Amino acid sequence: MGRVFSDLRTAEYGASGHPEAPFRVKDTFAMLRAAGHQPEKPSLHASAVDVALLHGPSHLASIKSGTFSDPDTPPFPGIDEIALISLSGALSAADAAMKGEPSFSLMRPPGHHAGKDRVAGFCYLNNLALSVARLQKAQPGLKVAIVDFDVHHGDGTQSLVLGRENTTFLSLHQFPLYPGTGLDSRGNCWNVPLEAGTAGDAWLREFEPRLELLLREKPDVLAVSAGFDAYKEDPIAGLKLDKGTFKRIGSLLAQTKLPRYAALEGGYSEDLPILVESFLDGFF
Ligand SMILES: [Zn+2]
Repeated sequence: MGRVFSDLRTAEYGASGHPEAPFRVKDTFAMLRAAGHQPEKPSLHASAVDVALLHGPSHLASIKSGTFSDPDTPPFPGIDEIALISLSGALSAADAAMKGEPSFSLMRPPGHHAGKDRVAGFCYLNNLALSVARLQKAQPGLKVAIVDFDVHHGDGTQSLVLGRENTTFLSLHQFPLYPGTGLDSRGNCWNVPLEAGTAGDAWLREFEPRLELLLREKPDVLAVSAGFDAYKEDPIAGLKLDKGTFKRIGSLLAQTKLPRYAALEGGYSEDLPILVESFLDGFF
């Protein structure tokens, strides 16, 4: 079984009626534990140095002071510290993956819409992109394939890794939908827009050949933005994946036998805990 990094302090913020809510970590933590996983605190502690790998020099300070404006992404008190804990989970998962242990970061806030100087779409720091940058700083030349299966386009991640050496980004997402990007592929960023209503089998038919192409790039590690809002019951999007699809995605990624890790992105249905468990069943 792989490793799960989590910290219940990341369930300690929220706004009433906001879909990105504390239960996402709290209930999933409880279910994973009941299923035999042993969520542990991150082994690495993210700092401003890690944030500066890709974000602008004043980004963290602006999160701390709340001097930003995005209606979806409020300036909660202490959110800078909580975002660093969330980032710590992704960094720890990446580190464990490189030691041969498939790993998952169960944290919030998510990250894939956060850009260089931009909070957006419930995201403050781009956890996954930063974890990739940290791995590549430690091991120059390391080839990383990023897979983003969140229902929304990972626009923040794309903006941070576009043109980056030894890095390929693959995103499958509903289009049109927030954030309105990801219709076309650009360089090392491969986008697969999908119509509302696309179900699991059709989704997998798009995914499998792209994963094969990704493997031809001979990546050393797979970094996964694991969003579960493509689920058929998700309240904020319109794809129709079911629990079994997420297990299949996990299995296909595991079959690569590559070092691999994933970090939680979206997923707003109350079924999120069983979707994560199902994914990890395949992924570990
Ligand atoms: Zn999403």
